[in-house]
Amino acid sequence: MIRRSFLAALAFAVALPLTAWAEAPLKVVATTGMIADAARQVGGDQVEVKGLMGPGVDPHAYRQTRSDIVAMTRADLILWHGLYLEAQMEDFFHDLGRKRAVVAVAEGIDTSKLRAHDDYADKYDPHVWMSPALWRDVVVEVQEALTEARPDAADIFAANAQAHLAEIDQLEGYAAQALASVPESNRVLVTAHDAFGYFGAAYGYEVMGIQGISTQSEAGLNRIGELVDTLVDQQLTAVFVESSVSDRSMRALIEGAAAKGHDVGVGGELYSDAMGEPGTYEGTYIGMLDHNITVIAGALGAEVPDRGMNGKLSAGF
Ligand SMILES: [Zn+2]
Repeated sequence: MIRRSFLAALAFAVALPLTAWAEAPLKVVATTGMIADAARQVGGDQVEVKGLMGPGVDPHAYRQTRSDIVAMTRADLILWHGLYLEAQMEDFFHDLGRKRAVVAVAEGIDTSKLRAHDDYADKYDPHVWMSPALWRDVVVEVQEALTEARPDAADIFAANAQAHLAEIDQLEGYAAQALASVPESNRVLVTAHDAFGYFGAAYGYEVMGIQGISTQSEAGLNRIGELVDTLVDQQLTAVFVESSVSDRSMRALIEGAAAKGHDVGVGGELYSDAMGEPGTYEGTYIGMLDHNITVIAGALGAEVPDRGMNGKLSAGF
């Protein structure tokens, strides 16, 4: 009896502050840092976003932890990338989608804009964040998902999305200008894995990864040998390491070129599949790409502003 009246009182107390509940931030869980950033930019103070994959985390290999699952059961909306990026979580999200609001934000992109996956005939290259033009489509998907979850805030989400899309336009302008200032014969990007295909296609760069589109395939000695020959033949002097992939194979490449009397250096560390530290400029989508564009263009011979397009990059990258 006492218990029942206690529960009744509790139900009453919970029901009372209805407006306060309606205004509590929408709880959003996002897999990659890039999607979490898009949700924060578009959601503003209407959302509380938890990103599952921090700096240096490889999404191709990531599996949900116990605390991720807890966060997802408490979330109002779950955003993942899709296109087989989170290969180890694919089944998990398909199951979860039967019970919760789950959206694969990159799967809303028109497939005519996507590159083929080099390992699977029926799949696409998931690294769409490398092209600001494609990322715009993802931001719009995020806006739609947030609007569906909280229709009352549609106008706020639309205004925030417009502002963020304008920043992405500015980024695209900077990228086009900086990357076009690299001498044509230097427009080759050698990286640890094939994350830069959309980037190369957008800006006219040849892109070569030691590993394929997924980091899950082992780099063969043949592949390293081929790349060493390319570096020597084309007289390329810079290769790039990635923050979320081991640089072991990259060292083998540099040593291989050195053994043939050709000096190759590391042009810098790029953010391929994960952003920089939270709370820093490089820990945002705009900062991540500004960093990559500035490091690549600078290392390959263009004049670029030291601190990038907004003067916000950390010194000495
Ligand atoms: Zn990748």
